[in-house]
Amino acid sequence: MENNTSRRSFLKQTAILSTGTLIGSSLLQDAFANTTQPLLEETGSDIFTNSIEEGTFVLPKLPYSTDALEPHIDKATMEIHHGKHHQAYVTNLNKAIGTLDKKLVESSSSLETIFKKMSQFPDSIRNNAGGHYNHTLFWELLSPNGGGLPKGKLAQAITSSFGSFDEFKKQFADASMKRFGSGWAWLVVKDGQLVIGSTANQDNPLMRLKGKGLKGKPVMALDVWEHAYYFKNQNRRADYINSFWNVINWEKAEQLFNS
Ligand code: MN
Repeated sequence: MENNTSRRSFLKQTAILSTGTLIGSSLLQDAFANTTQPLLEETGSDIFTNSIEEGTFVLPKLPYSTDALEPHIDKATMEIHHGKHHQAYVTNLNKAIGTLDKKLVESSSSLETIFKKMSQFPDSIRNNAGGHYNHTLFWELLSPNGGGLPKGKLAQAITSSFGSFDEFKKQFADASMKRFGSGWAWLVVKDGQLVIGSTANQDNPLMRLKGKGLKGKPVMALDVWEHAYYFKNQNRRADYINSFWNVINWEKAEQLFNS
């Protein structure tokens, strides 16, 4: 019973404090939904008030249908990736929170505050909180109306940081290809500069971890786990990266950049 109480307290704090988090789009509001599974794009206090008493993270709905990204990302991949893989991170995150020390739970207001003191948490939280957060972000960074060229301030920043859009694409694809095994490629803002890099497993640039890992505010994320492309592309990660440029949601990236 103590576990349930501390979890409720944790979620209440999360709901109160996660407004105005680093990712301005209220990802965590969306991630804290109950069984109605609101769209990722829907934000606001309704989702908060509905979700707190429920006491668990839930899988957010995709902001488009599973076949909407065809032919670039296929329906079967989206169904398995979202419905099975992302769901597993959500399920296991809920289980892992239930095993945490009460004080640690009470002092953690959101996933982003957990990431800031990541080394205090067990790997079960690191992997599943990262998995939930990264995928929630990733779905928003894809769009059936995506592709083309970045716009606005982000386009300017890409050109001034990398010389040209083509050079940026080359460097981002290179980081995606060179991530050995499973992980994510990222475009982040660090100290006011755009930086390309990658992280292993479900780590992300918000996690404060020992070592030289990539740090910064996420602007773009690309899942390079084989589960993201194997069904359609088999081992050809390069083909998947090429497809990604046709569905990248530049509006969302721009929003994250400006936040
Ligand atoms: Mn994935």
